[in-house]
Amino acid sequence: MTYNEISWPKALVRGFFRRCPQCGEGHLFQGYLRPEEKCFVCQLNFESLNADDGPAYITMGLVCLFIVPLFFIIQALYQPSMGMALLVSLPLTLVVILGLLPLIKGAFMGALWKSRGEN
Ligand SMILES: [Zn+2]
Repeated sequence: MTYNEISWPKALVRGFFRRCPQCGEGHLFQGYLRPEEKCFVCQLNFESLNADDGPAYITMGLVCLFIVPLFFIIQALYQPSMGMALLVSLPLTLVVILGLLPLIKGAFMGALWKSRGEN
């Protein structure tokens, strides 16, 4: 597939599933968050897709947008003790953040690849 045949949503979805945005076959990461140097299938250079802190900001924004209101709703409905609320909410927040971060970073790298144009 050429660059122009790959739509924005497809590039984002491929990245979200931690796949190369260009071919959809190669793995984006060699571990949890460390990108591969290049795609082993299509040889796309991943080093130019430097996401920096963008995925962390997006992940934190999404968590604040959905998790924090959920905690307020649970507090209003069930009124758990402060200790119980912290015991549940802190690990849950950590798991959601750590689970989302590589997916958001992959989608972010897909967006970076698509936004830089054909070259
Ligand atoms: Zn590839």
